[in-house]
Amino acid sequence: MPAVSVDNILVLPRLPKVDPATATERKVSSVTTAPSGFEGEGFPVRRAFAGVDLSQLDPFIHMDQMGEVEYAPGEPKGTPWHPHRGFETVTYMIDGTLRHQDSNGGGGLISDGDTQWMTAGGGLLHIEAPPEEVVMSGGLFHGFQLWVNLPGRLKMTAPRYQDIHRGDVGLVSSHDGGALLRVIAGEVGGHRGPGVTHTPIALLHATVSPGAQVRLPWRADFNALVYVLSGTGTVGANRRPIRSGQLAVFGPGDVVTLDADQNQESRSPALDVLVLGGQPIREPVAAYGPFVMNTRQELLQAFEDFQAGRLGTIPAQPHPGHDVL
Ligand code: MN
Repeated sequence: MPAVSVDNILVLPRLPKVDPATATERKVSSVTTAPSGFEGEGFPVRRAFAGVDLSQLDPFIHMDQMGEVEYAPGEPKGTPWHPHRGFETVTYMIDGTLRHQDSNGGGGLISDGDTQWMTAGGGLLHIEAPPEEVVMSGGLFHGFQLWVNLPGRLKMTAPRYQDIHRGDVGLVSSHDGGALLRVIAGEVGGHRGPGVTHTPIALLHATVSPGAQVRLPWRADFNALVYVLSGTGTVGANRRPIRSGQLAVFGPGDVVTLDADQNQESRSPALDVLVLGGQPIREPVAAYGPFVMNTRQELLQAFEDFQAGRLGTIPAQPHPGHDVL
Protein backbone atom coordinates (compact mmCIF):
# COMPACT_ATOMS: atom_id res chain seq x y z
CA MET A 1 0.00 0.00 0.00
CA PRO A 2 1.72 3.23 -1.11
CA ALA A 3 2.29 5.68 1.75
CA VAL A 4 0.84 8.53 -0.34
CA SER A 5 -2.87 7.83 -0.69
CA VAL A 6 -6.02 9.92 -0.24
CA ASP A 7 -9.21 9.32 1.74
CA ASN A 8 -11.55 10.90 -0.80
CA ILE A 9 -10.32 10.93 -4.38
CA LEU A 10 -13.40 12.91 -5.48
CA VAL A 11 -12.08 16.14 -3.93
CA LEU A 12 -8.96 16.14 -6.16
CA PRO A 13 -8.59 18.05 -9.41
CA ARG A 14 -9.43 15.84 -12.36
CA LEU A 15 -7.80 14.95 -15.62
CA PRO A 16 -9.65 16.26 -18.66
CA LYS A 17 -11.64 13.64 -20.55
CA VAL A 18 -9.82 12.58 -23.69
CA ASP A 19 -11.82 13.08 -26.89
CA PRO A 20 -11.48 9.82 -28.86
CA ALA A 21 -12.27 11.68 -32.11
CA THR A 22 -9.06 13.74 -31.96
CA ALA A 23 -6.75 11.55 -29.86
CA THR A 24 -4.45 8.78 -31.07
CA GLU A 25 -4.26 6.00 -28.53
CA ARG A 26 -0.76 4.52 -28.36
CA LYS A 27 -0.30 0.82 -29.02
CA VAL A 28 2.01 -1.31 -26.89
CA SER A 29 4.97 -2.56 -28.93
CA SER A 30 6.53 -4.85 -26.31
CA VAL A 31 5.97 -6.27 -22.81
CA THR A 32 9.02 -7.58 -20.93
CA THR A 33 9.37 -9.14 -17.48
CA ALA A 34 11.97 -7.60 -15.16
CA PRO A 35 14.55 -10.11 -13.87
CA SER A 36 15.41 -10.09 -10.16
CA GLY A 37 18.89 -9.31 -8.87
CA PHE A 38 20.79 -7.69 -6.04
CA GLU A 39 22.25 -4.18 -5.75
CA GLY A 40 24.79 -2.56 -3.44
CA GLU A 41 25.41 -4.60 -0.29
CA GLY A 42 22.75 -7.08 -1.35
CA PHE A 43 19.28 -5.52 -1.40
CA PRO A 44 16.80 -7.13 -3.79
CA VAL A 45 15.97 -5.27 -7.00
CA ARG A 46 14.12 -5.89 -10.23
CA ARG A 47 15.82 -4.51 -13.35
CA ALA A 48 12.76 -2.92 -14.94
CA PHE A 49 14.39 -2.10 -18.31
CA ALA A 50 16.34 -5.34 -18.86
CA GLY A 51 16.03 -6.66 -22.41
CA VAL A 52 14.73 -3.39 -23.88
CA ASP A 53 16.79 -1.55 -26.50
CA LEU A 54 18.19 1.79 -25.25
CA SER A 55 16.75 3.58 -28.29
CA GLN A 56 13.25 2.76 -27.01
CA LEU A 57 14.07 3.88 -23.47
CA ASP A 58 15.75 7.17 -24.50
CA PRO A 59 16.03 9.53 -22.49
CA PHE A 60 16.02 6.87 -19.75
CA ILE A 61 18.92 4.52 -19.18
CA HIS A 62 18.10 2.25 -16.28
CA MET A 63 15.44 1.63 -13.64
CA ASP A 64 15.58 -0.55 -10.52
CA GLN A 65 12.57 -1.43 -8.44
CA MET A 66 14.06 -1.71 -4.92
CA GLY A 67 12.09 -4.34 -3.01
CA GLU A 68 9.27 -4.64 -2.29
CA VAL A 69 10.69 -6.45 0.74
CA GLU A 70 9.75 -6.80 4.39
CA TYR A 71 13.06 -6.76 6.28
CA ALA A 72 13.67 -8.49 9.60
CA PRO A 73 15.62 -6.45 12.22
CA GLY A 74 19.28 -6.13 11.17
CA GLU A 75 18.58 -6.96 7.51
CA PRO A 76 18.17 -3.59 5.74
CA LYS A 77 21.03 -2.89 3.33
CA GLY A 78 22.25 -0.05 1.13
CA THR A 79 25.11 0.75 -1.23
CA PRO A 80 28.76 1.53 -0.42
CA TRP A 81 30.22 4.88 -1.56
CA HIS A 82 30.30 5.05 -5.35
CA PRO A 83 30.66 7.65 -8.12
CA HIS A 84 28.35 8.88 -10.90
CA ARG A 85 28.82 11.10 -13.94
CA GLY A 86 26.78 12.11 -16.96
CA PHE A 87 23.15 11.64 -15.90
CA GLU A 88 20.49 12.21 -13.22
CA THR A 89 19.17 9.73 -10.66
CA VAL A 90 15.60 9.90 -9.41
CA THR A 91 14.94 7.96 -6.22
CA TYR A 92 11.28 7.54 -5.29
CA MET A 93 10.57 5.79 -1.98
CA ILE A 94 7.04 4.41 -1.97
CA ASP A 95 7.38 2.85 1.50
CA GLY A 96 10.30 2.85 3.91
CA THR A 97 13.35 5.08 4.37
CA LEU A 98 16.69 5.54 2.62
CA ARG A 99 19.40 7.96 3.74
CA HIS A 100 21.58 9.70 1.20
CA GLN A 101 24.94 11.41 1.61
CA ASP A 102 27.23 12.79 -1.08
CA SER A 103 30.71 14.22 -1.44
CA ASN A 104 29.34 17.76 -1.93
CA GLY A 105 27.89 17.95 1.58
CA GLY A 106 24.34 17.13 0.51
CA GLY A 107 22.14 14.49 2.04
CA GLY A 108 18.92 13.67 3.81
CA LEU A 109 16.22 11.13 4.35
CA ILE A 110 13.89 9.94 1.62
CA SER A 111 10.86 8.16 3.04
CA ASP A 112 7.24 7.15 2.48
CA GLY A 113 6.47 8.95 -0.78
CA ASP A 114 9.44 11.34 -0.95
CA THR A 115 11.56 11.67 -4.07
CA GLN A 116 15.15 12.78 -4.39
CA TRP A 117 16.44 14.05 -7.66
CA MET A 118 20.20 14.09 -8.04
CA THR A 119 21.89 15.55 -11.08
CA ALA A 120 25.29 13.84 -10.99
CA GLY A 121 26.44 15.99 -13.92
CA GLY A 122 30.24 16.27 -13.97
CA GLY A 123 30.53 13.89 -11.05
CA LEU A 124 30.30 13.11 -7.36
CA LEU A 125 30.45 10.27 -4.88
CA HIS A 126 27.47 9.18 -2.86
CA ILE A 127 26.12 6.52 -0.54
CA GLU A 128 22.51 5.35 -0.24
CA ALA A 129 21.69 3.34 2.87
CA PRO A 130 18.95 2.86 5.44
CA PRO A 131 19.46 4.90 8.63
CA GLU A 132 20.69 3.07 11.73
CA GLU A 133 17.28 2.97 13.41
CA VAL A 134 15.76 1.33 10.32
CA VAL A 135 18.57 -1.26 10.25
CA MET A 136 17.72 -2.02 13.89
CA SER A 137 13.97 -2.23 13.39
CA GLY A 138 13.67 -3.70 9.87
CA GLY A 139 10.37 -3.10 8.09
CA LEU A 140 8.87 -2.47 4.68
CA PHE A 141 11.19 -1.21 1.93
CA HIS A 142 9.88 -0.37 -1.53
CA GLY A 143 11.17 2.24 -3.94
CA PHE A 144 12.56 3.05 -7.34
CA GLN A 145 15.68 4.47 -8.81
CA LEU A 146 15.45 5.80 -12.35
CA TRP A 147 18.43 7.03 -14.39
CA VAL A 148 17.65 9.94 -16.74
CA ASN A 149 20.30 10.66 -19.35
CA LEU A 150 21.79 14.11 -19.94
CA PRO A 151 22.61 15.42 -23.41
CA GLY A 152 26.30 15.80 -24.20
CA ARG A 153 26.25 19.57 -23.58
CA LEU A 154 25.02 19.00 -19.98
CA LYS A 155 26.98 15.90 -18.98
CA MET A 156 29.58 17.98 -17.11
CA THR A 157 27.06 20.38 -15.54
CA ALA A 158 27.35 21.11 -11.81
CA PRO A 159 25.69 18.56 -9.49
CA ARG A 160 22.21 19.58 -8.30
CA TYR A 161 19.76 18.16 -5.76
CA GLN A 162 16.03 18.37 -5.35
CA ASP A 163 14.26 16.93 -2.35
CA ILE A 164 10.64 16.45 -3.31
CA HIS A 165 8.56 16.00 -0.21
CA ARG A 166 5.61 13.63 -0.44
CA GLY A 167 3.28 16.56 0.32
CA ASP A 168 4.44 18.40 -2.82
CA VAL A 169 3.60 15.61 -5.25
CA GLY A 170 0.75 16.64 -7.57
CA LEU A 171 -2.36 14.58 -6.74
CA VAL A 172 -4.91 14.25 -9.53
CA SER A 173 -7.92 12.03 -10.14
CA SER A 174 -8.81 10.44 -13.47
CA HIS A 175 -11.88 12.09 -15.04
CA ASP A 176 -14.32 9.67 -13.36
CA GLY A 177 -12.53 9.18 -10.01
CA GLY A 178 -11.40 5.63 -10.88
CA ALA A 179 -7.68 6.29 -10.50
CA LEU A 180 -5.31 8.30 -8.32
CA LEU A 181 -2.36 9.87 -10.12
CA ARG A 182 0.69 11.13 -8.24
CA VAL A 183 2.57 13.46 -10.60
CA ILE A 184 6.22 13.49 -9.49
CA ALA A 185 7.77 15.31 -12.42
CA GLY A 186 6.62 17.00 -15.60
CA GLU A 187 3.00 17.58 -16.54
CA VAL A 188 -0.01 15.40 -17.32
CA GLY A 189 -3.25 16.92 -18.64
CA GLY A 190 -2.29 20.37 -17.34
CA HIS A 191 -1.31 19.13 -13.84
CA ARG A 192 2.31 19.69 -12.93
CA GLY A 193 4.57 17.74 -10.60
CA PRO A 194 7.38 19.33 -8.57
CA GLY A 195 10.47 17.70 -10.17
CA VAL A 196 12.56 19.94 -12.43
CA THR A 197 14.55 18.14 -15.06
CA HIS A 198 17.27 19.11 -17.50
CA THR A 199 15.79 16.61 -19.95
CA PRO A 200 12.01 17.09 -20.32
CA ILE A 201 10.20 14.09 -18.82
CA ALA A 202 6.95 13.15 -17.12
CA LEU A 203 6.86 10.66 -14.24
CA LEU A 204 3.79 9.57 -12.36
CA HIS A 205 2.63 6.81 -10.05
CA ALA A 206 -0.95 5.72 -10.71
CA THR A 207 -3.29 3.53 -8.65
CA VAL A 208 -6.16 2.31 -10.84
CA SER A 209 -9.21 0.82 -9.10
CA PRO A 210 -10.46 -2.62 -10.22
CA GLY A 211 -12.44 -2.28 -13.45
CA ALA A 212 -11.44 1.38 -13.96
CA GLN A 213 -9.87 2.87 -17.09
CA VAL A 214 -7.51 5.84 -17.37
CA ARG A 215 -6.75 7.65 -20.58
CA LEU A 216 -3.72 9.84 -19.98
CA PRO A 217 -3.01 12.70 -22.38
CA TRP A 218 0.64 12.10 -23.28
CA ARG A 219 2.95 14.38 -25.26
CA ALA A 220 3.42 13.00 -28.77
CA ASP A 221 7.14 13.93 -28.70
CA PHE A 222 7.73 11.84 -25.53
CA ASN A 223 8.24 8.10 -25.43
CA ALA A 224 5.92 6.21 -23.08
CA LEU A 225 6.64 3.35 -20.67
CA VAL A 226 4.46 1.67 -18.04
CA TYR A 227 5.93 -0.49 -15.27
CA VAL A 228 3.57 -2.52 -13.06
CA LEU A 229 4.20 -2.49 -9.30
CA SER A 230 1.26 -4.69 -8.44
CA GLY A 231 -2.01 -5.97 -9.81
CA THR A 232 -3.11 -6.96 -13.29
CA GLY A 233 -4.67 -5.15 -16.22
CA THR A 234 -4.35 -4.31 -19.89
CA VAL A 235 -2.54 -1.38 -21.49
CA GLY A 236 -2.50 0.45 -24.80
CA ALA A 237 -4.88 0.55 -27.76
CA ASN A 238 -4.21 -3.15 -28.33
CA ARG A 239 -5.14 -4.00 -24.69
CA ARG A 240 -1.98 -5.99 -23.91
CA PRO A 241 -2.28 -7.96 -20.66
CA ILE A 242 0.28 -6.88 -18.05
CA ARG A 243 1.08 -7.82 -14.47
CA SER A 244 3.40 -7.05 -11.60
CA GLY A 245 7.09 -6.76 -12.61
CA GLN A 246 6.38 -6.15 -16.31
CA LEU A 247 7.27 -3.18 -18.51
CA ALA A 248 5.22 -2.04 -21.51
CA VAL A 249 6.84 0.06 -24.22
CA PHE A 250 4.36 2.17 -26.19
CA GLY A 251 4.47 3.23 -29.83
CA PRO A 252 3.54 6.68 -31.22
CA GLY A 253 0.38 8.60 -30.33
CA ASP A 254 -0.86 11.07 -27.72
CA VAL A 255 -2.87 8.97 -25.25
CA VAL A 256 -1.70 6.25 -22.85
CA THR A 257 -4.50 3.90 -21.77
CA LEU A 258 -4.49 1.83 -18.58
CA ASP A 259 -7.26 -0.66 -17.72
CA ALA A 260 -7.31 -2.43 -14.34
CA ASP A 261 -8.79 -5.92 -14.34
CA GLN A 262 -12.05 -6.23 -12.42
CA ASN A 263 -10.70 -9.12 -10.36
CA GLN A 264 -7.48 -8.42 -8.44
CA GLU A 265 -5.69 -10.47 -5.79
CA SER A 266 -6.65 -9.41 -2.26
CA ARG A 267 -3.02 -8.66 -1.34
CA SER A 268 -2.79 -6.12 -4.20
CA PRO A 269 -6.33 -4.83 -4.67
CA ALA A 270 -5.58 -2.27 -7.45
CA LEU A 271 -3.42 -1.89 -10.56
CA ASP A 272 -0.44 0.13 -9.39
CA VAL A 273 1.91 1.43 -12.11
CA LEU A 274 4.66 3.91 -12.84
CA VAL A 275 4.09 5.80 -16.09
CA LEU A 276 7.07 7.61 -17.54
CA GLY A 277 8.22 9.22 -20.74
CA GLY A 278 10.51 11.92 -22.01
CA GLN A 279 11.99 13.65 -24.98
CA PRO A 280 14.54 11.33 -26.60
CA ILE A 281 18.09 12.78 -26.62
CA ARG A 282 19.14 10.74 -29.68
CA GLU A 283 22.87 10.83 -29.00
CA PRO A 284 25.29 7.90 -28.81
CA VAL A 285 25.40 6.30 -25.34
CA ALA A 286 28.62 4.91 -23.85
CA ALA A 287 27.56 3.55 -20.46
CA TYR A 288 29.50 1.43 -18.04
CA GLY A 289 28.78 0.90 -14.36
CA PRO A 290 28.12 4.26 -12.72
CA PHE A 291 28.97 6.46 -15.75
CA VAL A 292 26.83 7.38 -18.77
CA MET A 293 28.73 9.29 -21.45
CA ASN A 294 28.62 9.75 -25.24
CA THR A 295 31.92 8.13 -26.19
CA ARG A 296 34.29 5.43 -24.98
CA GLN A 297 36.99 8.09 -24.58
CA GLU A 298 34.75 10.05 -22.18
CA LEU A 299 34.04 6.85 -20.26
CA LEU A 300 37.77 6.18 -19.84
CA GLN A 301 38.22 9.79 -18.73
CA ALA A 302 35.48 9.32 -16.11
CA PHE A 303 37.25 6.27 -14.66
CA GLU A 304 40.56 8.15 -14.68
CA ASP A 305 39.00 11.18 -12.94
CA PHE A 306 37.39 8.91 -10.34
CA GLN A 307 40.69 7.09 -9.66
CA ALA A 308 42.44 10.45 -9.29
CA GLY A 309 39.86 11.67 -6.77
CA ARG A 310 38.50 14.36 -9.10
CA LEU A 311 34.88 13.22 -8.58
CA GLY A 312 35.17 14.04 -4.89
CA THR A 313 36.32 12.30 -1.74
CA ILE A 314 34.44 10.46 0.97
CA PRO A 315 33.67 12.88 3.83
CA ALA A 316 35.39 12.06 7.13
CA GLN A 317 32.20 12.62 9.08
CA PRO A 318 28.86 10.95 8.54
CA HIS A 319 26.17 13.38 7.49
CA PRO A 320 24.62 14.95 10.62
CA GLY A 321 21.25 13.65 9.54
CA HIS A 322 19.52 16.69 8.16
CA ASP A 323 15.99 15.48 7.74
CA VAL A 324 14.03 16.70 4.72
CA LEU A 325 10.69 15.91 6.36
MN1 MN B 1 24.14 5.71 -6.89
